[in-house]
Amino acid sequence: MNFKRKERGKNLKYVLIGFLGIAAAAALIWILFDKLEGDAPVLSLALESRYLQGSAEIPLTVSDEKSGLRRVYASILQEGREVTLVNKTVDREGAEEIADPRRLELNLRIDAREMGLKDGDAQLLIAAWDQSWRQRFAGNLAYKEVEIVIDSTPPRVSVLTRQHNLSQGGSGLVVYRLSEPCKKHGVRVGDNFFPGHSGYFDDDDVHLAFFALRHDQVKDTDILLEAHDRAGNRGQSGFSYYIQNRSFPSDNLNLSDNFMRRVLPEFYSEPGFPFDDSRLAQFLFVNQDLRRKNDKRVLSLAGQSDDAIHWEGDFMALPRAQRMAGFADHRTYIYEGKTVDQQVHMGVDLASMRHAPVPAANNGRVVLADWVGIYGDTVVIDHGSGVFSLYSHLSSIDVSEGDFVARGDIIGKTGTTGLAVGDHLHFSMIVGDVFVNPYEWWDARWVENNIAAKLESVAEQVGR
Ligand SMILES: [Zn+2]
Repeated sequence: MNFKRKERGKNLKYVLIGFLGIAAAAALIWILFDKLEGDAPVLSLALESRYLQGSAEIPLTVSDEKSGLRRVYASILQEGREVTLVNKTVDREGAEEIADPRRLELNLRIDAREMGLKDGDAQLLIAAWDQSWRQRFAGNLAYKEVEIVIDSTPPRVSVLTRQHNLSQGGSGLVVYRLSEPCKKHGVRVGDNFFPGHSGYFDDDDVHLAFFALRHDQVKDTDILLEAHDRAGNRGQSGFSYYIQNRSFPSDNLNLSDNFMRRVLPEFYSEPGFPFDDSRLAQFLFVNQDLRRKNDKRVLSLAGQSDDAIHWEGDFMALPRAQRMAGFADHRTYIYEGKTVDQQVHMGVDLASMRHAPVPAANNGRVVLADWVGIYGDTVVIDHGSGVFSLYSHLSSIDVSEGDFVARGDIIGKTGTTGLAVGDHLHFSMIVGDVFVNPYEWWDARWVENNIAAKLESVAEQVGR
């Protein structure tokens, strides 16, 4: 009996020692893996550009998955002066509290004027410590120093060219100086934007932009220069211009079953071709849906135009050709006596002999040589700074994308590919993403007065 009680007491003691041992081991493991962890907090700063407007908000996420955050601090340093943006701690007085020590999402708010910061260089400092006992109980430190530029001043745009005469569907050129480097600049014409191009003049601050008025934009359309600097400040400037209204001819096109029967098979491979619908519905699919898609493709080349001006003098038309249809002709399509569609013809149709050689209208780089739906086999030449020429319905293409061609080089032969009645060249000029009137570009006097003379007069002022 006595012996048994003694045994039980002994057992209890072992159990107790065992428990203590486990507790001590657990504490040791906790110290080793949590309190002595060596991973610093992770800083993630969403800074789009190092150029900041006078008033800015920068998202900052700080996290520490192991021991958790102890303190987060951020400031701006400019010419020896430090402005605190954030000071948050878990356990210290006089600072804001960190609610969730694992993850903290912040917005670093900068107001240059309120904080007494000047335009110019500054450093953004960010530091975060965790709950680890490392670094003599101070915690692991994550530190980031980012060079920033505070820019609260919008760019100034000054116009260097004088007269800007435009007609509906016509083109124009403006040369301007920017007070600082800008990430986007150019001419806004109503809801169209024409990006400016750089490098033509010696002075890096001087830029030029070809722009255009759509054939359907009227006399009181707003035209202005616009520039966005690297911090996102926007500067605008008006300039004097005169818009000449124009009227465009209309004509009727009678659709015959014969014509549709001949042209439609070329478009059978187009996605969405309505095989089950009537022949007229199939034609309207081509003339409306496919036309929109094809226009979008040829007008989207503007973004990749070269900064240079490759061309010189007036543009060349197809020699010994008759003009069959003009720019911005308003076409009414009639089938069995009824109006079935209306489209505007955004080029000039030129007919010479069958399979006539087609010269490049001016120097440039071939940016498209491909079959483009209603335009058939097509070549587009980039003449630089957003000016393009387009040649379509070709029976053969003799150039490849990337080729440089000189004015007069043969790029292909006329034909009837795409939506064409007879053998002819459909020729378009494009400025930015707008079809413009080719007659201006064919006219040596117009080119001299509206472009060449302007470039020369600015070159005399700023050098080239
Ligand atoms: Zn045409």
